[in-house]
Amino acid sequence: MKVSELEDLHGQIATCPACDLCKSRTHAVPGEGAANAEVMLVGEGPGFHEDQQARPFVGPAGHFLDELLSSVGLRRSEVYITNVVKCRPPQNRDPLPAEIEACRRHLERQIDLIKPRLIVTLGRYSLAWFFPKDSISKVHGHLRQRDGRYFVHMYHPAAALHAGNLRSVIMEDFLKVPVALAQAREASQTAAAATAAVEPAAEQMRLF
Ligand code: SF4
Repeated sequence: MKVSELEDLHGQIATCPACDLCKSRTHAVPGEGAANAEVMLVGEGPGFHEDQQARPFVGPAGHFLDELLSSVGLRRSEVYITNVVKCRPPQNRDPLPAEIEACRRHLERQIDLIKPRLIVTLGRYSLAWFFPKDSISKVHGHLRQRDGRYFVHMYHPAAALHAGNLRSVIMEDFLKVPVALAQAREASQTAAAATAAVEPAAEQMRLF
């Protein structure tokens, strides 16, 4: 059911006409990965290669992202990867505020369906989507929690292609991902155990 809902959403995104980026795209890039992923990675928008292949993070920045995932023992197939805007901005320019807002509902729906324990924001546009007041230079590598969900903030992998000194920073920041995931799993188990302890008591209340 959940898989088919996600596939339906991908179909809707593929033909979405909600902003002008639909006019210049070759393909929309909804996202890909496991429908029950614990980790969702959210980038900025598709680039040239992604637009051609309808897949997220398949160009040089994507190869670096694969390295990062591998460095913490994760495979692409077990996470879910998407972007703030699903269609390529012309000449890889930054997405406009109106485009980000038009596309907001798609990412909201993806989060609703997949319910990741941990969201990794990649770059400042992704950070701003979730935490508009924060600056990537101040919060990169930070782990935090909001409404029961964990977040780790990273520079965009493409930044390492333009500024080589950021490569080691990004690699170090990415080590927070398994830490955050372990914390999120533990919090979930604690919450489940607390619920299980309350339920028999409630049952007894009904019996007497
Ligand atoms: S960027 Fe988002 S809102 Fe704009 S056309 Fe593509 S899918 Fe639709």
